[in-house]
Amino acid sequence: MKRLQSWVESANSAETHFPLNNMPCGVFSVGADDDPRCGVAIGDFVLDLALLEDRGLLDVASETVFDLPYWNAFMEEGPEAWEALRARLTDLLIEGGDDALRGDASLRAEALVPLADASLHMPFIVAEYTDFYAGRHHAFNVGTMFRGAENALPPNWLHIPIGYNGRASSVVASGTPIHRPLGQLRPPGSDSPHFGPSRRLDFELEMGAVVGGGSELGQPLTVSEAESMIFGYVLLNDWSARDIQAWEYQPLGPFQGKAFGTTIGPWIVMRAALEPFRCEGPARDVPLLPYLQEKRPGLYDISLEVTLQPDGADTATTITRTNYREMYYSAAQQLAHHASSGCPMTPGDLLGSGTISGPEKENRGSLLELSWGGKEPLSLETGETRAFLEDGDWLTLTGWAQGADFRIGFGTCTGQILPAVTEPDWSK
Ligand code: CA
Repeated sequence: MKRLQSWVESANSAETHFPLNNMPCGVFSVGADDDPRCGVAIGDFVLDLALLEDRGLLDVASETVFDLPYWNAFMEEGPEAWEALRARLTDLLIEGGDDALRGDASLRAEALVPLADASLHMPFIVAEYTDFYAGRHHAFNVGTMFRGAENALPPNWLHIPIGYNGRASSVVASGTPIHRPLGQLRPPGSDSPHFGPSRRLDFELEMGAVVGGGSELGQPLTVSEAESMIFGYVLLNDWSARDIQAWEYQPLGPFQGKAFGTTIGPWIVMRAALEPFRCEGPARDVPLLPYLQEKRPGLYDISLEVTLQPDGADTATTITRTNYREMYYSAAQQLAHHASSGCPMTPGDLLGSGTISGPEKENRGSLLELSWGGKEPLSLETGETRAFLEDGDWLTLTGWAQGADFRIGFGTCTGQILPAVTEPDWSK
């Protein structure tokens, strides 16, 4: 697969996240009074699809779908429309293609908005959010800390992509600050719990699968059907309060330790853009039941990195480097499992992959693992150390699939930790 040559010069560099091969989907506005609308990133620009649709250059849907502050309406048009959009945009942007945009200087100037001038918003309305626990290295590391290496993986883990139903209401756009959560805590060595700010605030490096199609109540999905419903992928940070989580999680799993915030990246990379990077998952220790078996490899080779930057520091430290191919279960398997009981899926559903840790210490996708439960704090390039996140810290995820001379990038997914809010007067 080679880079497609665009007449948008900045889309042709080897480093850009947004060559013509990518065209990820976002929602943008320019200035405070501008209505957010759909666009795709191309080089250093976002292309205004609402404008192209209005001018009759983008006839790929049954109704007006791009002059909206979310991609859900277009996603619901289905896979043929998804393919038609990519084909049409490629024709408009490729060197030597349809001249309707390139040949119209005033339209070109209006439709190509410099990314530096654009504000990016939530790319879609999250219908429901489910988070999985499908990274083997992460599950093994966390299990080892909690139960010892002998019992690290729960007995179901090699058979089921374990998950829990999270909250869509607290999924926020990249750049949204996150307050340190309040919660019920029972510190080690203490007999009774108290209520207060989390002291063990963490991130989880994940990919989010964006579901573009739906399924009926009572109707399971095959893995192949599930895969065809996935519109694309976003960067996802599943913020986690480890102390709240450790006290509350038995036996029903995460609740308030996860519910206070999940940040997603601004760009949905469509599944078609990732096709050249499809790769096999890890070997199976035990065969999966037929309903979870894949007909073709379901993971992607996507390099992922996380940086941590204390407030006011001029240096961000890269604290982990890993890859999405480390997952044990693909998003298609997770979606098939999710529907297996007859639970209906909805366009706009978001599936968190689970924390993506690799085999080595430097590949771990959470501070819980990187600092081994807080016992081995990390050294930052500023000279500070971190066991868990401090107030003011900026945490940034990035990722890209590396081609021969191009990258399919996801941009960045960032958030800053603010101090806990003042507690209400509980006596009132
Ligand atoms: Ca998670």
